[in-house]
Amino acid sequence: MPVALDALLAELPADAVTTDPAVIEKYRYDWAHDPAAGMPVAVVRPTAADQVQTVMRWASTNRVPVVPRGAGSGLSGGSSAVEGGVVLSMDRMRSVHIDPDCRVAVVEPGALNAEVKAAAREHGLWYPPDPSSYEICSIGGNIATNAGGLCCVKYGVTTDYVLGLDLVLADGTAITLGGKRLKDVAGLSLLKLFVGSEGTLAVVTGAVLRLVPAQQAPSTLVALFESMVAAAAAVVEITRSTRPAMLELMDAATINAVENHLSMGLDRTAGALLLAQSDAGGAAAGAEISAMERAALRCGATELFRTDDPAEGEALAAARRAAFPAIEKLGSLLLEDVGVPIPLLAQLLSGIADIAKRNQVAIPTVAHAGDGNTHPIIVYTPGDADAERRARKAFGEIMSLAISLGGTITGEHGVGRLKKAYLPAQLGPDVMALSQRVKQALDPLGILNPGAVL
Ligand SMILES: Cc1cc2nc3c(=O)[nH]c(=O)nc-3n(C[C@H](O)[C@H](O)[C@H](O)COP(=O)(O)OP(=O)(O)OC[C@H]3O[C@@H](n4cnc5c(N)ncnc54)[C@H](O)[C@@H]3O)c2cc1C
Repeated sequence: MPVALDALLAELPADAVTTDPAVIEKYRYDWAHDPAAGMPVAVVRPTAADQVQTVMRWASTNRVPVVPRGAGSGLSGGSSAVEGGVVLSMDRMRSVHIDPDCRVAVVEPGALNAEVKAAAREHGLWYPPDPSSYEICSIGGNIATNAGGLCCVKYGVTTDYVLGLDLVLADGTAITLGGKRLKDVAGLSLLKLFVGSEGTLAVVTGAVLRLVPAQQAPSTLVALFESMVAAAAAVVEITRSTRPAMLELMDAATINAVENHLSMGLDRTAGALLLAQSDAGGAAAGAEISAMERAALRCGATELFRTDDPAEGEALAAARRAAFPAIEKLGSLLLEDVGVPIPLLAQLLSGIADIAKRNQVAIPTVAHAGDGNTHPIIVYTPGDADAERRARKAFGEIMSLAISLGGTITGEHGVGRLKKAYLPAQLGPDVMALSQRVKQALDPLGILNPGAVL
């Protein structure tokens, strides 16, 4: 055992540190399964913030890389382990307390998004951010990636709900930013710097999250189109006049993959499926759905289906959320997360189709369309080196396409390790240099999640 690890073991409870290779293996990868993940010397699973401080002080003294980890559902290799480092897993810090008078949740970072939603529901409240992975991802990971999701088109993303953070810095200093107060402009807006920082600037050990009144049961609209381009035009038309609580898009390949996976009667012949919801309630929801229907028809919808039955609506949303697991059955995946201003969605989608054709790869595509955020999913046969080369080429070309349209290489999954090489092309040298200066100021030894993002 490395001597430095002895010092850490002496300071933490025995069950907080494991060096068992079988356990370590389970903490090496996120859902991106990055083959370049290193072999850490230990997994540390603290139960309190002061233990996180101990880990960071020890890591600073011994210059050991630390990879903060939530639930490992990330799609960009952000929590891939680093060779010779430690994985700092927050999965044992998961308390959730609801303060209904302040309308906030006070949470530890390992709490799953679904656990926060469930606790809020008991008080008639709602924590809106809803990544499709909400049942398997942690709040700490959501904060570190500034996660989005399906209802974000109306309700915003994670950062819009973070009122306060407890953080442990690289040198072990514990700080608190913000809190239960709804308005607070004292000092620099440091809180937002840490949201989306992907474990590179600090470890999140606690958060105060804003809650809102429970959502009304949604009404749902499904519109089918002959092509993704026609559906993209409908997205522009719908968002121009209404504010849907969900506006999701699936292409033909995704519809078929989901149908193979769930057998729920989706129309396999459709070129694109647009799934919209209104949570305005009662007659207002009916009016919103009708307005969306008219907009879809103006853009060539071939079939429409609407329902006020929440169970039916949830089944359709679940079908959309099942897109990744369904497509995962088709082969190895490279997951994209590119976004553009909404009016450029059609151009992005037809460009992706061209890239698929040129590189002879399948790229089923789903999208949080109302946010202009798409997930082209490049599928290739595992073990086929040429197919993998073509897939990687397509991966880069899609990001270049998004940048050329004034878009982003990542709308919600983060840069992690898989997209790091493409970040300078989007940000440019001055913003990259500024970002490096921030990193240097907060983590001068470069021990927090090295190799990710910057
Ligand atoms: C099926 C599926 C569907 C998905 N759908 C969506 C979606 O709709 N929207 C979306 O945004 N994402 C989605 N994701 C991606 C993923 O779930 C999110 O990125 C999520 O926020 C990651 O949370 P996690 O707890 O799993 O974090 P991890 O994967 O463990 O870590 C993610 C990043 O956060 C950092 N981190 C984790 N915890 C902390 C902490 N306490 N302090 C500091 N840094 C930390 C890690 O270092 C890493 O950089 C999906 C993933 C899957 C598998």
